[in-house]
Amino acid sequence: MIDPFGRTVNYLRVSVTDRCDFRCVYCMSEHMTFLPKSDLLSLEELDRVCSAFVAKGVRKLRVTGGEPLVRRNVMELFHALGRHLETGDLDELTLTTHGRQLPRFADDRRRAGVRRVNVSIDTLDPEKFQKITRWGSLEKVQDGLRAAKEAGLHVKINAVALKGVNEDEISEMVGWCGSQGIDLCLIETMPLGEIDGDRSDQYLPLSLVRANLQKVWTLEDTDYSTGGPARYTTVKETGQRLGFITPLTHNFCESCNRVRLTCTGTLYMCLGQDDAADLRTALRTDPSGELLDRTIDEAIGRKPKGHDFVIDRRQEQPALKRHMSVTGG
Ligand code: SAM
Ligand code: SF4
Repeated sequence: MIDPFGRTVNYLRVSVTDRCDFRCVYCMSEHMTFLPKSDLLSLEELDRVCSAFVAKGVRKLRVTGGEPLVRRNVMELFHALGRHLETGDLDELTLTTHGRQLPRFADDRRRAGVRRVNVSIDTLDPEKFQKITRWGSLEKVQDGLRAAKEAGLHVKINAVALKGVNEDEISEMVGWCGSQGIDLCLIETMPLGEIDGDRSDQYLPLSLVRANLQKVWTLEDTDYSTGGPARYTTVKETGQRLGFITPLTHNFCESCNRVRLTCTGTLYMCLGQDDAADLRTALRTDPSGELLDRTIDEAIGRKPKGHDFVIDRRQEQPALKRHMSVTGG
């Protein structure tokens, strides 16, 4: 699949649920209204849509959410999608999770063909962790990390940089990830969905974070890329990678290779734009799959050039109404 700007689209991120048992302050408000379960695609329908994308050239699938591991029987989907790894039609099946459920799932996940997981941890301080996630526990998440490592999964940590919250700790996290043999990826907060606080209070430009880190660590630029928006460096002292995802300070769209499917079957061609395609209707009205194929092709044909994120103090509205948990972070 090639979009109008000549970019090959070979990466699909699938949000299998908008629900979560955490309430991270930058992601959700404390009292969220979630989608009615009846609106969700079944696991079998998710498999059909993902498989249609694989047939069209998608090489990498990431299962995300909300918290993907709270979706009931989600392992069935992993096992079903694992068949595309066996045939060689898919290079990678991965997962983004907050990690709490990993002790239950890590082994089974590896059997399904998952080799890498991204776990989101924004702080190593248990109290701060609880404040950021509202309902989470760092101890449980660390149990999850251990389980993932014991199951032989390659773990990367995602951390959102938050002004006045974890900014003084990021250097320590770089050291900790180094000691654990784990790569770290830092993310700027994106203005997605209503939250309880003011995002401009949370926003911390990674250019500043990087400048501070460079006082302590030697960061060497690399060409390493996961095909995603992160720009990677190697931390010379630890040998681990450190990535920066900077949607607000640097426009990363020129190399965008991905589209995103929500749990209700809506396809977003860009995380930062509202245009979308309804794949659920296509899927349900035409069992042959032809309408689904056509709808996907038309959608890729209007993938936009880029997002227009801006965190604006004057407008208290988020840039987009939908939360990251709907589109899948
Ligand atoms: N629940 C899983 C987790 O937290 O890893 C998967 C879904 S979560 C939406 C995926 C990633 O998006 C997490 O790393 C999270 O920190 C990040 N995220 C959520 N809301 C965000 C926002 N407004 N700006 C930047 N990153 C965000
Ligand atoms: Fe849940 Fe992930 Fe959002 Fe945190 S970032 S509230 S863990 S979906």
